[in-house]
Amino acid sequence: MPSYVFPAHDIVGLPVAGTAELFPVRRVYCVGRNYAAHAREMGFDPEREPPFFFCKPNDSAAVLPVAEGVVTELPYPPATANLHYECELVVAIGKGGSNISVQDAAAHIFGYGVGLDMTRRDLQFTMRDAGRPWEIGKAFDYSAPVGVLTRAAEAGDIGHASITLEVDGTLKQNSTIAHLIWNVSETIANLSTLFTLQPGDLIFSGTPEGVGPVVRGQTLVGRIDGLAELSARMV
Ligand code: MN
Repeated sequence: MPSYVFPAHDIVGLPVAGTAELFPVRRVYCVGRNYAAHAREMGFDPEREPPFFFCKPNDSAAVLPVAEGVVTELPYPPATANLHYECELVVAIGKGGSNISVQDAAAHIFGYGVGLDMTRRDLQFTMRDAGRPWEIGKAFDYSAPVGVLTRAAEAGDIGHASITLEVDGTLKQNSTIAHLIWNVSETIANLSTLFTLQPGDLIFSGTPEGVGPVVRGQTLVGRIDGLAELSARMV
């Protein structure tokens, strides 16, 4: 065993429905503007341009496992006055590869979960408008809560599942995974031309329309048919 100058960082393990074993998180990829109505609300014309990607940190400060049936406390981040929720289908990769074909992509999926791509919208827009990277808007601590994963074979027809987000019981996002511009298999195929995917990678597949602000004390509930619900209260 190597010896480190201070204790090595733990990797994040996400609970998996039906087992005590955890899914070890490796990388966190995210797809931008992958629902047409969300692209429009962000001020873009949702032509079917190639998907684009950004990343979030994979450490235990950024990726927050959210157990089922528990309201997890989600710390409000610093340096923002406009924190937004983005409810997303998270794809958990179980088999790695590069240049994966659309036809083969499903075989690389371990399972799915509900995730929140938390976004400091004010900082994202400041950076975006200056032509600078999005990191400070997207890659902060606790920016990636993820619910319990469900194995793909047990998740039903995820490609047509409904996806919703409520804030304090009020419906804010309400769409279907079928509205993805680039579906899950196409996203995996494209991403794998850019990076070699490995078991443990997560892909946040994009958010539907209805994104908006959340403040301390409010509770977010994300749901996707067939998957464990995610509940988090901003503190
Ligand atoms: Mn997003």
